[in-house]
Amino acid sequence: MNRKQAFDSAMRELRKSGMIAKRNVKGCCRGCIQIETDGKPLIWHYGGQGKAFTWRDDKAVLSYVSSWDYDDGGAVEIIYFNHSGLVDEAGNRTDASRLVVDTFLQHGFGVQWDGTKSSCVGVMLA
Ligand SMILES: [Zn+2]
Repeated sequence: MNRKQAFDSAMRELRKSGMIAKRNVKGCCRGCIQIETDGKPLIWHYGGQGKAFTWRDDKAVLSYVSSWDYDDGGAVEIIYFNHSGLVDEAGNRTDASRLVVDTFLQHGFGVQWDGTKSSCVGVMLA
């Protein structure tokens, strides 16, 4: 299984568990994006403003770079998932949060997250 397949597999497993897991969600900014959850746990990665990624030669790379952007379409080392339902009102991590972290780790991706509601879940792709 290569990196792309491992990532796709991790996302698929999270969806099968009943979560909503989206990547490369487009919008003019993160604040404009509304995703219906029906109370399900949600993770989503922002893919607007040239930040969408794709896989090339089994490396994650930016998939689109505008002519004025200083980025060179190079490697994407980490993506940041916004989330809801991973931390409860009291600030405790839910089962869904453990599932997200464990699933990415089991598929060979490092995870950087302090476990708080206000921090994104970073998943290391490189
Ligand atoms: Zn916006």
